[in-house]
Amino acid sequence: MRLSRAFLPTLKETPAEAQIASHRLMLRAGMVRQTSAGIYVWLPLGWRVLQKVEQIVREEQDATGAQEILMPTIQPADLWKQSGRHDAYGPEMLRLKDRHEREMLYGPTNEEMVTDIFRSYAKSYRDLPRNLYHIQWKFRDEIRPRFGVMRGREFLMKDAYSFDLDYAGARRSYQRMFVAYLRTFARMGLKAIPMQADTGPIGGDLSHEFLILAETGESQVYLHRDLLAFDVLSQTVDYDGDLSPIVDFWTSRYAATDEKHDAAAWAAIPAADQVSARGIEIGHIFYFGTKYSAPMGLQVSGPDGKMVTPEMGSYGIGVSRLVGAIIEANHDEQGIRWPEPVAPFRLAVLNLKPGDAGADALAERLYAAFDPDAVYDDREDRAGVKFADADLMGYPWQAIIGPRGAAAGRVELKRRATGERAELSLEDAIARIRGG
Ligand code: ATP
Ligand code: MG
Repeated sequence: MRLSRAFLPTLKETPAEAQIASHRLMLRAGMVRQTSAGIYVWLPLGWRVLQKVEQIVREEQDATGAQEILMPTIQPADLWKQSGRHDAYGPEMLRLKDRHEREMLYGPTNEEMVTDIFRSYAKSYRDLPRNLYHIQWKFRDEIRPRFGVMRGREFLMKDAYSFDLDYAGARRSYQRMFVAYLRTFARMGLKAIPMQADTGPIGGDLSHEFLILAETGESQVYLHRDLLAFDVLSQTVDYDGDLSPIVDFWTSRYAATDEKHDAAAWAAIPAADQVSARGIEIGHIFYFGTKYSAPMGLQVSGPDGKMVTPEMGSYGIGVSRLVGAIIEANHDEQGIRWPEPVAPFRLAVLNLKPGDAGADALAERLYAAFDPDAVYDDREDRAGVKFADADLMGYPWQAIIGPRGAAAGRVELKRRATGERAELSLEDAIARIRGG
């Protein structure tokens, strides 16, 4: 992407309405633009990040054996009447009527629809277990949309739904998602901690929220320090094997949000191991038994020929919220510091003197080595503008090329995360960036 031809609009002024760093930076870097309260356009830079986040979520869902589908955003109200949630949901649900006066709604979630789909096809226990997911826009008419994409009204969610024959099966499905979530967030450079959450009337212990620690988080959280030290990706996972050891490791150490905080259990932890902080919820997994399958009449024939009502769970990840959360966890005074796996571009090539034959040639060669995962700042701008923009947009690597260095065949390579700089030949610079 050549900046001289790109639509990557930045803002000079810090927008007054933005209260937290990620919101300010997303507006200043031209990632998103609000069109109504809590509803955003994803501009090219933001859209690239959103797609990278989405792809990591997808890969880790697929690895568990879950299958991707795409359900519509608009749903018939009738399905929600069958589950009893049409009245229960309240003003967060955007209700619509079509030209024939049929009641519709913009989906805030998809339990009803997926149950309807599954009941149309599943006939016997051999059709279980299954897990269907989609990555789709949701609408919730939040009373207080704020913090940019963190609490929007229209937002992108990954929601998965599992169907099992019995509780033991449902528990395994739950554990698969539990482990997949740990891996998903770790791949984005986030330390997400599963915390026990409310199960509602169903009871049991199969509901966890995944939170990352950040000063601007909306939740108060309490956890054992050991949970922050563990490297999730160092473990290989067999989703057909027994996942209990992994889940037990995480659930046997204290981690709770305000709502589930247990003062006595907390007091038993040595003070040096206690971490109390603010957290951002980025995912939520939930087992709810037959809450939807029973009222909606989803049944399959069991191995003994008797009809069985499948046990279900649902598993959400706030895909668009994650973009804000990643920035909350990775920024400094100058701007964003993208972790490489979710960076909009891996490299920015800053040509300090476009038109200088030597600088142009070297910059073009480096750019070509990483295109389409690189931006080339070939604009007729001051060097200071280029440095500031590259820092703001947070590309993991910056390659600074000026006439003098170019004449000597040298590139100045800067790593955004650490600020480290090195003077390198073109070949060494390419190798360094490829090496990560
Ligand atoms: P919250 O407690 O933050 O309102 P929730 O419990 O209503 O969230 P879920 O129904 O569990 O959310 O949705 C799954 C995930 O979707 C959440 O973990 C969160 O990451 C994301 N999410 C929920 N509401 C929003 C929103 N208004 N804007 C952006 N992401 C959201
Ligand atoms: Mg929740």
